[in-house]
Amino acid sequence: MTKLSIRDLSLQAQPLFIRVDFNVPISNGVVSDATRIESSLPTIQYSRQGGAKVILASHLGRPKGQPNSKYSLRPVASKLSEILGAQVRFVESCIGPEAHAAVKDLAAGELLLLENLRFHAGEEKNDEGFARQLAGLAELYVNDAFGTAHRAHASTEGMTHFVKEAAAGLLMERELEYLGKVLRNPEHPLVIVLGGAKVSDKIGVIQNLLKIADYVLIGGAMAYTFLKSQGNEVGASLVEDDQLELARDLLKAAKARGVEFLLPVDHVVIDKSSGTADPSVVSTAATAPVAAGMDIGPVTARQYAEIVTGAAMVVWNGPMGVFEQRPFDRGTVLIAQAMAKCRGVTIVGGGDSVAAVHQSGVAAQITHISTGGGATLEFLAGVELPGVAALSDKT
Ligand code: AMP
Repeated sequence: MTKLSIRDLSLQAQPLFIRVDFNVPISNGVVSDATRIESSLPTIQYSRQGGAKVILASHLGRPKGQPNSKYSLRPVASKLSEILGAQVRFVESCIGPEAHAAVKDLAAGELLLLENLRFHAGEEKNDEGFARQLAGLAELYVNDAFGTAHRAHASTEGMTHFVKEAAAGLLMERELEYLGKVLRNPEHPLVIVLGGAKVSDKIGVIQNLLKIADYVLIGGAMAYTFLKSQGNEVGASLVEDDQLELARDLLKAAKARGVEFLLPVDHVVIDKSSGTADPSVVSTAATAPVAAGMDIGPVTARQYAEIVTGAAMVVWNGPMGVFEQRPFDRGTVLIAQAMAKCRGVTIVGGGDSVAAVHQSGVAAQITHISTGGGATLEFLAGVELPGVAALSDKT
């Protein structure tokens, strides 16, 4: 990695500002899913053990630049404290005299969580004054919030210009290592599996990965835009009609590059006209005008699973069907299982595919589960993430 890592910093007795992603679900004042908090634990523990005075900062929800108790990070301080078995102090503002006093009170190895960064409009506007105020809390800065690195906000980009050193946290480093390996040093056969609702969200990724992939396997509703662009009947399936031309261009580009770009050959459909939701399986050629595709069919799932299992490197983003609703989760579950069986490097990104990997009980067998949604897609599309570009270069 060309960027400075937290492992390059001298932390002992130094205030250390860590931008984390604690944007977790909270219900009735309690954190209901601590996955994101757990993802930052390696960096937090490393900082404590190194004797830093640890200042943690995050956004939570969309309070639109105003204080709003609904989006307070206070419950996160309690949860983190419970997980670590150590006190986590909390301060009701992320800037100003109160925040400064709280930092001054910290002893080496102690932890402080600042209130929601987005209670200030300057955060999302990347306002220089606000960025300078944040930077005034510590000379050392670490970004461990990969999931927000595609946004140039005051805490992810602006403040890095006003600190002494800006480094990647351990989670950020891991993300850059694995996702970077896909782009710079891929293993072949390299298989890309894409699904989900929209082609439009994944155009950049497809265009960029077509340059290096051996296989691109398409599932989910986005398959119907590709199938329709080739003149197939897609019935009442979800289609982005404004992307048909682009879909045709992508198929042409794949062909020109010799990439195996596969679309589903069969589908699990429901009949939209009958009012019942009894699913049936049809081939692409036999799709009726009333049929809505809800999942890839069993022949497609077997074919995709075989290719995934035999890959040297696989990247998967987006479900193969409406996986939230049984039995339309089957195709997605089969891909998750094939990823687990694959002996190569397996990478999963995006909320839904990550959820599917957990639901299928195979998370431990996946090489890297990315914490980014939009950030992962932008990185794989070859876009330089502002939150990464802003980190200090290794000297
Ligand atoms: P995305 O956020 O683009 O990755 O899309 C995820 C969503 O796509 C999930 O909520 C799925 O239910 C939905 N999805 C996947 N396949 C289909 C399909 N065949 N028809 C409608 N929605 C789908």
